[in-house]
Order: sequence, then C-alpha cells, then structure tokens
Amino acid sequence: MGKVDKGVECNVEGCRNKALRSVSFKNASEAGLKLNGESRRAYLCEAHYREFKKARRSNR
Ligand SMILES: [Zn+2]
Repeated sequence: MGKVDKGVECNVEGCRNKALRSVSFKNASEAGLKLNGESRRAYLCEAHYREFKKARRSNR
C-alpha cells in the first residue's frame, strides 16, 4: 500500500477518477475489481479503494 503521485488515474475499468492509493495488482483482482491492463501495482481512487478494503475484509 502506498500513496500515489498526482495525475495518476484509477486503474479500475471505466473509472476516470484520480488515484489516491496503490495496492498490489493481485490483491485488487482478488477483491473483485476489474482492472485495466496488467502491472505489479493497481492504482485506486478513493471510492474503489474503499470497495477494495471492504472486499478484503469480507474475504477473511
Ligand atoms: Zn476508481
């Protein structure tokens, strides 16, 4: 997890919000988020980051 540089967009498909957080790509897809492309990091906007955290919590 970490902070993100300014101007980076959320990697979730169809989302054009500014990314605020980065998580590992694997964790994000495991949380059920549809991501553009593929890389080691996934950049998430605030809304999708919240969704990500929620999904992670309900998985445990
Ligand atoms: Zn988003």
